[in-house]
Amino acid sequence: MRLTFTNLKLFVAETIVAVNLLFLPVCLAEVKQEPFGIDVSISDKDIRQGDIVLVTVRAPGISSLKGEFHNNPIFFSKTGNGDSFTGIVGIDMTLPPGRNHLTLRGVKGESDVVSEMELDVKERKYEIERLTLPEKMVELDKEAEERADREALELKGVWEEVSGERLWDGKFALPVNGDLISNFGKKRVLNGKEKSPHNGIDISAPEGREVISPNNGRAVFAAEHFFGGKTLVIDHGQGLYTTYLHLSKVSVKVGDMVNRGDIIGLVGKTGRSTGPHLHWSSRLNKARIDPLKLFSF
Ligand SMILES: [Zn+2]
Repeated sequence: MRLTFTNLKLFVAETIVAVNLLFLPVCLAEVKQEPFGIDVSISDKDIRQGDIVLVTVRAPGISSLKGEFHNNPIFFSKTGNGDSFTGIVGIDMTLPPGRNHLTLRGVKGESDVVSEMELDVKERKYEIERLTLPEKMVELDKEAEERADREALELKGVWEEVSGERLWDGKFALPVNGDLISNFGKKRVLNGKEKSPHNGIDISAPEGREVISPNNGRAVFAAEHFFGGKTLVIDHGQGLYTTYLHLSKVSVKVGDMVNRGDIIGLVGKTGRSTGPHLHWSSRLNKARIDPLKLFSF
């Protein structure tokens, strides 16, 4: 399915659904037991793989709140009249469907309080593409394979460095105007072998078209990779990153602060790419999320 810029609003549809949760403090020896007394609501009770879940916690008397999801930190910011906190949780594109614990830890007066809630994740249906190609087009030589493995590790290191400071602010913008190809999570089976699923979306656009930063952040990684070609990562803070591949030019340096709308590169077809397009992907608490979900909170 191809998506146009105009029907993007489909992705913005969002309902706030209150969830019925029993917020009893969890029995942990090192934590002083206090009635937590909080209300939690999530942006959508239909949680799918690749989603971003907006969690709103109303917690009178709680001075600070943090969370943990699959051993990764979830950051909460104070909102409203000071009684509420909001945080976002990324659901990995291949997280097995089922119930997942989100642990909430708050500070109330002198005490630490802990609560757990469950996020019930459902399966998302992904397209499957089966291709048969001559073996020599599919197999990488040893050198290329080693290089690709090394580069994948380099990127993995980027997600490990989580800065607690929130840099993004307000709505996200589309990084480039073009034809959106809805291929997030698409499974590729090459000559009968399953390859890693497509971890972002592709936006088809002419070579040289300007790519903008969709929100405020900091350029934290730039390199020329075997698969991704000219690659750039923007850190938006609190474990949220956006990644840009196949660029013909990277216009910022690592360490540069960028604002929403700043030019960060130009569309290209560097690396393994059949034509000029932007491959756009995003990570949140290390989870591979659908970047189009960034428009819905
Ligand atoms: Zn792609």
